[in-house]
Amino acid sequence: WAKAEGKARWAIFDPERSLREVDQYTLAQLLPTALDRGEFRLHYQPLIALADGRFTGFEALLRWEHPRLGRLRPDRFIAAAEESGIIVPIGQWVLQESCRQARRWYEITGIRPCVSVNVALRQLSDGGLLDDVLRVIEAEQLTPDQLQLELTERAVIGSDHEPLAELQALAALGVGIAIDDFGTGYSNMTYLRRLPITALKLDQSFVSELRPDAADQTDAKIVRSILTLAHDLGLTVTAEGVETAAQARALRELGCDQAQGMYFGAPVPADALLRTPDAPGETR
Ligand code: C2E
Ligand code: MG
Ligand code: MG
Ligand code: MG
Repeated sequence: WAKAEGKARWAIFDPERSLREVDQYTLAQLLPTALDRGEFRLHYQPLIALADGRFTGFEALLRWEHPRLGRLRPDRFIAAAEESGIIVPIGQWVLQESCRQARRWYEITGIRPCVSVNVALRQLSDGGLLDDVLRVIEAEQLTPDQLQLELTERAVIGSDHEPLAELQALAALGVGIAIDDFGTGYSNMTYLRRLPITALKLDQSFVSELRPDAADQTDAKIVRSILTLAHDLGLTVTAEGVETAAQARALRELGCDQAQGMYFGAPVPADALLRTPDAPGETR
């Protein structure tokens, strides 16, 4: 603790430190007030079934609208939020807010969307996520299979506190469990046997070079192998970061289930996703 404090003080006063690093420290300090003051927002990115182009749901992505610093992306503050534990109440808010939007979507369109929420290890291991999920899906009258939790390999797999029991209870409920950024974090895949995973999110790095009609391409071979493995295990695969029609077509040819990315739609506030007449001027 003393060491951490020493480091932090040094971070403030050393003029050589980059602005970005100083900001990390400042941001960590601002996180509790940000939550109290309602500075967090969710943006929603559509998930699309590649076979027929159907909208199946959305991923909720956290944004921090700081009055002076502007809009901050999660890469700037999630790590700090995890370290301090404030990710637990932030994550509760994310779950509640995104499920509320899923219900609202159903009420407006009659379609039950899947809502995919990123969760941090802290939320699972001692954050009471299971109780929160039970309460929220009940309150918003969602079916458990409408909710998918996204975990990164890096954060969860093989940690000392691998949340096996929590994940099993969530999976038994019928909630989806997806591995986010699949293929970037961890080469040992035995967790696919151990944990109740239902889906993989294929990292953008495998997608960016994909071309249609290029079956001999290395990336296409990797993606095809991942799809074969996933489908044999009964998992669905969503490709992340799809930016072009060519990538989408290549993924569809390879048999990928779902996609998300700029080509289909950027993450936007709920009202922009809904495009309802009552959206403009609505307060939060
Ligand atoms: P992720 O879950 O892998 O989310 C996908 C990221 O790709 C998002 O970045 C999204 O805005 C971005 N993206 C979407 N389409 C495209 C595209 O076509 N091309 C490219 N290059 N990128 C695209 P974002 O929103 O900055 O989020 C970054 C990461 O922060 C997320 O990665 C996730 O790991 C984490 N995160 C976001 N929201 C939450 C949250 O509520 N809780 C937790 N614990 N982590 C979160
Ligand atoms: Mg994600
Ligand atoms: Mg991802
Ligand atoms: Mg990613």
